[in-house]
Amino acid sequence: MGSKRSSSASLYIMHNKNLTVSVEEALEIVLRSVNPLSFENIPLMRAFNRILYEDVVSDRMMPPVADSAMDGYAIIADDTRGASLNCPVKLHVVGEIRAGSSSTGYQVSKGTAIRIMTGAPIPQGADSVVRFEDTEEESGYIKLFCETEKYENYREAGEHIREGEHILSKGKRLNSADVGILASLHRNAVKVYKRPTVSVISTGDELADTGEEIQIHQIRNSNAYTICSEVTKYGGHARYLGIAKDSLGEMRKIFANALKSDVIISTGGVSAGKYDLVKEVCSDLNIEIHFDRVNIKPGRPCVFGTKGDKMVFGLPGNPVPALTSFIQFVRPALLRLMGATKIRKPIVNASLEQDITSGKIHHLVRGRYTIINNEFYVSKTSHQKPSMLRSMSDANCLIIIPETVTKVMAGDRVAIQLIDHDEI
Ligand code: AMP
Ligand code: MG
Repeated sequence: MGSKRSSSASLYIMHNKNLTVSVEEALEIVLRSVNPLSFENIPLMRAFNRILYEDVVSDRMMPPVADSAMDGYAIIADDTRGASLNCPVKLHVVGEIRAGSSSTGYQVSKGTAIRIMTGAPIPQGADSVVRFEDTEEESGYIKLFCETEKYENYREAGEHIREGEHILSKGKRLNSADVGILASLHRNAVKVYKRPTVSVISTGDELADTGEEIQIHQIRNSNAYTICSEVTKYGGHARYLGIAKDSLGEMRKIFANALKSDVIISTGGVSAGKYDLVKEVCSDLNIEIHFDRVNIKPGRPCVFGTKGDKMVFGLPGNPVPALTSFIQFVRPALLRLMGATKIRKPIVNASLEQDITSGKIHHLVRGRYTIINNEFYVSKTSHQKPSMLRSMSDANCLIIIPETVTKVMAGDRVAIQLIDHDEI
């Protein structure tokens, strides 16, 4: 298999063939290549935001016995018939059940009540709870000033969760309520998908890292910081491997080391320049390239390759396409690697606030939406050049101008992808 991959990769380089795909094809190819990771059993306290590996079926009822939803008195509802402000019903208080106490041995019978706290089990005989606020207690008796229905302030056994009920599905991202429910189900550990290790490499002779001395003709390496932040945001373990100079030997060494990770993300070195060497390095390392261009702006040069289960993304060097291509292609891949079932950023329609001209390409214009009277409005952010990361700093959405549209006007409805929104 290794040799097959090797020959197809070198064939690719020999013919210098361009593998241009549409945005949809690119995403399909990427997702098709994903082999989800295995699981780990982790303590519940660390489970927030992780992706569930198991289907959770309840092995018990919740609550396990009927209990009180209020601080008050457990009574028989029929005893309150005819109660009014002028003609209260009087009941004899025969005991008290605190939260955390057992109700064994307690019995409510006609004409009696038992003082009860929220969460305490309902005693035998009682079918309702009246709130303290609706009673007056004096010398061992309470007065009730209004009628009460059966099962008022009464939480039935199993009313929240039945035994055998399917509660959470494999692939769900655990929110705080989910973690609480698992705790209620007596769980102190949970099976979740492992987090992928992701090597991040910046390529380029022009780059200087933060903290390094820099010449006026050099460029600060910002991509590593943006991309590592994104990897962390989506649950991966980011491993920054530093700057690779535009030399085959150095890049090969760094990429070979990166292949120990589940995913490699490099930036730069994927266009047609003389020193754009990422594809050649991939070929040398028997990484099979599935596409090297996507019909998208910004971010047309974009490499995706695989070696066994390892995924390699060669993102563009410019900071904006590096980030937008991450969002479009790498983010869904990481989420699928972690078994997530929800991987789509929502797309909604918005009213555009200024004209935008475009080419025959799937154009992602960085935008900011607001919601006024339940309507979405969107305007593009400033500094739209691919080198200007400020367009993304201010953006909360990407305005999608499809290949078939060359101009959209103020007031037109456009599709926007909500990049700050959770996946749906
Ligand atoms: P390349 O695709 O390698 O030709 O890179 C295109 C441009 O992106 C370079 O000229 C740099 O201006 C910029 N660039 C590349 N890598 C980085 C990086 N790590 N951080 C910031 N800018 C970068
Ligand atoms: Mg470069």
